[in-house]
Amino acid sequence: MSQQRMQGQPMIILGEDSQRMKDKDAQSHNIEAARAVAESVRTTLGPKGMDKMLVSSMGDVTITNDGVTILQEMDIDNPTASMIVEVAETQEDEAGDGTTTAVAVAGELLKNAEDLLEQDIHPSAVIRGFHLASEEARDLVDDIATEVEPDDTDLLRKLAETSMTGKGAEQNKSLLAQLIVDAVEAVTVEADDGSHVVDLEFVNIETQTGRSVGESELLHGAAIDKDPAHPDMPSEVEDADVLLVNEPIEIEEAEADAQINLDSPDQLQEFLDKEEERLQEKVQQIADAGADVVLCQKGIDDLAQHYLAKEGILAARRVKKSDLQFLKEVAGANIVSDLDDFGPEDLGHADVTRDDADDMFLVEGGEDAHGVTLVIRGSTDHVVDETERGTGDALDVVSTTVADGRVLAGGGAAEVEIASRLREFADGVEGREQLAVEAFADALELVPRVLAENAGLDSIDTLVDLRAAHADGDAHAGLNVFSGDVVDTFDAGVVEPAHAKEQALSSATEAATLVLKIDDIIAAGDLSTEGEEEEGGPGGGMGGGMGGMGGGMGGMM
Ligand code: ADP
Ligand code: MG
Repeated sequence: MSQQRMQGQPMIILGEDSQRMKDKDAQSHNIEAARAVAESVRTTLGPKGMDKMLVSSMGDVTITNDGVTILQEMDIDNPTASMIVEVAETQEDEAGDGTTTAVAVAGELLKNAEDLLEQDIHPSAVIRGFHLASEEARDLVDDIATEVEPDDTDLLRKLAETSMTGKGAEQNKSLLAQLIVDAVEAVTVEADDGSHVVDLEFVNIETQTGRSVGESELLHGAAIDKDPAHPDMPSEVEDADVLLVNEPIEIEEAEADAQINLDSPDQLQEFLDKEEERLQEKVQQIADAGADVVLCQKGIDDLAQHYLAKEGILAARRVKKSDLQFLKEVAGANIVSDLDDFGPEDLGHADVTRDDADDMFLVEGGEDAHGVTLVIRGSTDHVVDETERGTGDALDVVSTTVADGRVLAGGGAAEVEIASRLREFADGVEGREQLAVEAFADALELVPRVLAENAGLDSIDTLVDLRAAHADGDAHAGLNVFSGDVVDTFDAGVVEPAHAKEQALSSATEAATLVLKIDDIIAAGDLSTEGEEEEGGPGGGMGGGMGGMGGGMGGMM
């Protein structure tokens, strides 16, 4: 091949329609795409961040301020931009919060990297510097973090409130924060090694449209969206023995379907009597085992409903499988799959009450029951959805923090402190990597700058004040976005999970370096198209990429 090149005859290996972009062109193409995504969510950062209205191609409307939700709904098909979306998704999965921060910092890292590339610093030096800085920054998070114990409910409540600030859940954040902290407390156990394990599987979130968010509540048990199967059944049973069953309380299908030949009306009557008898037997078995409440995943025959009602048993049919699994924990029951083979030992215990306003049963377990349900209410579907998102994120934040045990001062305090310490660290870094470490530190300060910007404050003045306070040794100095002042944000109750910050740092770094590593884009189609969407193939993805993004953003206001 080298021989051929020397002869001036390049070997052609790409198809006619394919396009290629190399080195600086490829880099700036990718950086632009990634930054465009980052910038689209920046304005939502912080309590004063704006919301976005996302309109899907089906016309569904989502109004949110949640980074990952925005990016997921945006219908992005540019491959580089998608990498940034992945950052948000990883962040959401790992930490439940900090998605906007991670994406915005990734964008800023790329912006600063571009400046370095323009000064002819090789991408691999930038990448090495970013990795060094990221590792150091994560160590610094640990240095500046404050420890938090699972029983420090005051601090945990502040953590939950900070996470909900600026979201749809905000108006009722003190109530919701209390519910979240109580929920986490109910499912936290101490492991043998003294660490804390929070099992979120035992926290159910149930949403109800109709009442106000302020009427949301925490049940030490389950909420089951069902009615009694028969009007004559009791609707409430105190101290009930509960049977959970996942087989139908009906005549088995095979028998019902089987063909029978009847010679006379008597035979028909006999057959029906037999069926009736069999159902009656089933119900009798249930009653004999001592069940007061029967929650059945499948159907219950009309006749069986009637017999159950006669026995004074409360029964509900077609209960969701997931609800049954959860009820198993709440009531401490086994799920019975064969009604011919079960006993009193399979039953659980709970108080079953009726919430008529919401048409649901509340099943509250006894002493050793696990499982709580957060009932999120709101006047409309939009309110409920956004409240659920905010509450769910805060729940993740509090639970990961209880397990992790560390928090940070928010409002940009942690970022400014880490940036200042990173600059000191940079002094000891040799070569051009030093510039990359400094660029990384600068990128972190994007957080307070954007918080200020979004609050209508002067971002440069804010940053200057913050740096001065940190130089004076005030490591918790951050921005109060409501007053515009630099305050001790930790004391002011603006606290963030340390774990999420570490995760945001590493995923932002990973995304930025991934983009920087690319020096060659080979596309099986046109790379320069704008606006038009293309279908399929890598060419469509790349070429139509920004166009796709334009389309997605077009739905936003
Ligand atoms: P993310 O998706 O990154 O969590 P948010 O929109 O939730 O984005 O904003 C988080 C940022 O807002 C954090 O830097 C946090 O410290 C900051 N923040 C939250 N509440 C306040 C407040 N009351 N004052 C100042 N900053 C705040
Ligand atoms: Mg947040």
